[in-house]
Amino acid sequence: MDRRKKKQIIFAVICLAAAVVITAIFYNPFGGVGSGLKKPVQMRCVKCGAGFEISSKQYEKQMTEKGAIGPKGPTGPPPGLKCPQCGQEEAYTAVKCKKCGNVFFPDPAVYADFMDRCPECGYSAREEKYKLRQSGE
Ligand SMILES: [Zn+2]
Ligand SMILES: [Zn+2]
Repeated sequence: MDRRKKKQIIFAVICLAAAVVITAIFYNPFGGVGSGLKKPVQMRCVKCGAGFEISSKQYEKQMTEKGAIGPKGPTGPPPGLKCPQCGQEEAYTAVKCKKCGNVFFPDPAVYADFMDRCPECGYSAREEKYKLRQSGE
């Protein structure tokens, strides 16, 4: 496979992953409409590396204002949100490690490993879930 094609594929995968993340946040069929309890959205600033949380309501509002979410769902890759630390609009949805609290971006380009593996301590919530499912049967 030539380099350019590979890059294009990786880009496509990242866009897809971003769309999946947004879709999962807003249209999670397992969330239950009745519960009313939406998880906060974990964000990370690519400029200064600050990690922070906003409510999913706030996230939804900001994404709608930026035109990234239409009546039918996500319309494109999510734009950056304003970082409370440095004030730049460079914060994107990220994952917070349950073990060490490190906030990082999952890597959708990895397919031989779990994409939510923490680069600091190596913990992966998906891996744990997977292992639990394996041992539970
Ligand atoms: Zn920042
Ligand atoms: Zn960690």
